[in-house]
Parts: sequence; structure tokens; C-alpha cells
Amino acid sequence: MKLYNTLTRSVQDFAPQSSDKTTIYTCGPTVYDYPHIGNWFTYVREDVLIRTLTTVGLNPDWVMNITDVGHLVSDADEGEDKLEKGAKREGKTAWEVAEFYTEYFVRGMEKLNMLQPTRLTKATEHIAEQIDLIKKLEEKGFTYTISDGVYYDTSKFPRYAEFARLELNEQQEGARVEANPEKRNPTDFALWKFSPKDHQRDMEWDSPWGKGFPGWHIECSAMAMKYLGETLDIHAGGIDHIPVHHTNEIAQSEAVTGKPFSRFWFHANHIMINGDKIAKSAGNGITLEDITSAGFSIEAFRLLVLESHYRTQSHFSWETLEAAQNRLRSYYAMAAMRWQSFGGVDGLTEADMEAYKSAIQTALENDLSTPQALAELSSLAEGVSTKGIQESSREAFDNLLIWIDEVLGLRLSQQGDINDHQKQLVEERETARVGKDWSTSDAVRDQLAEQGVGVRDTAQGSIWYRL
Ligand SMILES: [Zn+2]
Repeated sequence: MKLYNTLTRSVQDFAPQSSDKTTIYTCGPTVYDYPHIGNWFTYVREDVLIRTLTTVGLNPDWVMNITDVGHLVSDADEGEDKLEKGAKREGKTAWEVAEFYTEYFVRGMEKLNMLQPTRLTKATEHIAEQIDLIKKLEEKGFTYTISDGVYYDTSKFPRYAEFARLELNEQQEGARVEANPEKRNPTDFALWKFSPKDHQRDMEWDSPWGKGFPGWHIECSAMAMKYLGETLDIHAGGIDHIPVHHTNEIAQSEAVTGKPFSRFWFHANHIMINGDKIAKSAGNGITLEDITSAGFSIEAFRLLVLESHYRTQSHFSWETLEAAQNRLRSYYAMAAMRWQSFGGVDGLTEADMEAYKSAIQTALENDLSTPQALAELSSLAEGVSTKGIQESSREAFDNLLIWIDEVLGLRLSQQGDINDHQKQLVEERETARVGKDWSTSDAVRDQLAEQGVGVRDTAQGSIWYRL
């Protein structure tokens, strides 16, 4: 399987270190508010990666974290903890906010038909591991303490700028000028923040440096290494994590172990809405509920994500979502053929099914080319709709739909049969049509349409599909 590796900026052959599993860590949500569709785009892309690894037999051992403490409003370790901010907004404790949005996130994963990680790990349940890692960094001389916390001295890690190809001088003069003046270098980041003296935080712990809470970056290093070892096969996240969060994870982990933290780095690109980056502050933070209340299905949104390659910037609009919904309908019409008889000697054969399966798998193994995989799926839908399926290939077709669901998660094989009454109506309409009784034929078709069933006429009889 081929994957683009941010570490080398090239597409490489991927094989795990161990023959029986692939260790993979994906940065999860900060649970202080509803995720917007930009967040979900990244998670769905990672889900396709996990599904593809599974399909090709690379057995992912997958850890995703829940950031329920320590992620500050600004990446430069300034401002409020997002959880404490959410608590103030909602008149709850930070613990209650974390619990609510963690549950919401897990339900969202289920709605989107994402696989569940082997472990979903909370930062607040791994404070001891984080303290332990900071102690090791301290022993090796990578830390210093200032008035608001313990910081990582990035100048002690000479390769700091390498991963993101950072221009440190530019950065020093740029975005981080407002950063804490006590820091030795603008890129230094907090490992442990002290609790404020003027008020009591909801979440705080004792540590060798004083009462406080861990910085955002240290949790990922601590939990990834605890469950997956010192060198991961793949570390994944959004592209915006490259210059700060992942750069810091590498600096922390590699300073302690002296080994590469991850062999492959997988990054999903942004989505844009009307040319803008999606952000709550821009008022374009569309949620999954906005999608369903506008009358679209969650599967249509999932299909929209797959329509662009994970490394390209994709664009969301209600028009592109509508086009995805229509495309999904054509796939469901194809899937409805498993309940019907259509196609004589010209119908698709078992060999055709095998060829489509192989083409879709090849596309995914080629750096997760979901657009190419969908082109193959559309070609299959077209073939089924024009030629039908040979009776002897029905089982192969069923199995193909199940397999496509395993890799793409579009729930094609879960489309059920119509009921007996509806089947009777389809027959009545066919009889009327053959007898050229157009008014009965039209009336029955309308009756079926009201029940969400469409009918199409072919040389070999009527075919139904869901509207
Ligand atoms: Zn992370």
C-alpha cells in the first residue's frame, strides 16, 4: 500500500514494523463544543485510512485521544483552557462539559458510520503518564520553569524546525509576537501550567512543580507511547497540526526516546466554505445537525468527504452536498438490485464483480484515492443499471456490496427490500403498462412514489428503487 508521508514529503510504500498489526494514533477532538463539519472531514478521512488498512490485512491497532483538559484558546499557550471556557459558557463544570461533548462525539462517529478505535483515551485519565514524561524531559535538560508553568526549550532540540520546514525567524517576528515574554524562545511551549492564584480551576492536579494541569501537546506523546510503543507506524491528524502540535509532539517524544516518534505522518487537508477556512468565529461552523435538518442524509455528507482526495483542499457548499445526495441515490438504486431479478446473459458476471472489487481496492491502496474508488463505484452502478446482474452472480453481488461497505462505509448493503404490498403495486403497474393502460400505470406509479419507491422500465421488466 502506498501512502503520502509528511515526514519525507513523498508517497512511499507503507508496511508496518510488526507483521501482525499496524500501530496508529490519530489526534482526537477537544471536547468543549460541537465539532463542525471541518473536524468531521478529517475524522472521516482517517476512518477510510483505518478501513483500508483493515481491508488489505494490516490490522490497525488504533488509539484516538479525547482532549478534555489543557488545550488553550491560542496555540501559543496563551489564553483560557477551552474546557474552562466551555464550562463558563454553559454554566457547568469543566468535567460536565467534557462528558457531554465526549458522548456527543462518540454518537457522531456512529452516525457517520466510523469504526471505533481500539482505545479512546482521555487526557484527564493519563495525568500520571504525562507527569512522568515531563520528569524525563526535565532530567534530560529540556525544560525550564517560569511564573506560569514548566516549558519545553525548543532551542535544545536542534531538529525542531525540520518536520514542518519552519522558518523560525519568520515565526519569531510573526504570529507569536504577543507570546509570553518570559519564554526563552517564541516556539517554546508549556508542558505543565500552574493553576492561577486568583481562582480555583475545575480541573487541576498536584505535580512535582506545583498544582496545575498538563499542556495540550504532552498528552498525545504520553498516551501514544503508552499504548503503541516509542515508535508508531502512523500518526494522523489535520494539516493545521503540522507546524505546532505535531512538531511539539515530535520534539517531546524524540527528546526522551532518541527514536523516531512515528514512521509515517498522515495529514488531511482543510475544507473551505465559500472560499473561507471553516471556523466558529467566521459563523460557518456547520454541524451534523445542520445537515440533517436541511434534509440531507449523513451518508450523503460522508460521500461528499470521499469525493475529494484527502490531500487536496475540498470545498463544501449546499449544492455540492445535494450533488452527493443524488449520487448516493444512484448507488442505493444499484444496491436495490439485490432484491430483484434483472439481467439475462448480458448481465454482470462474477468476474465483473471481482474486477470492480480489485479496481476499488487498487485505488484505495494508491494513497487512498477515494475519488478514483468512487469513479469505479459509479461505473459499477451504471453497469448494473443498464445490463443488470446475471442470476448466477447474485451472491457475488451481495458480497461485493458488503465489501464496499467495509471499505467506504456507505451502508449500501443495508438498504432493505420493499414490502409485499409495494411489490404487488410494482406488478400491477407493469401489467397496466404492458396493456397500455396508461392512466392506471401512472396512478400506481404515483402511489408508489408517495411511499418513497420509484420505478424504472427496462426491456426485461420494471425495476424499483428508493427515491
Ligand atoms: Zn495530538
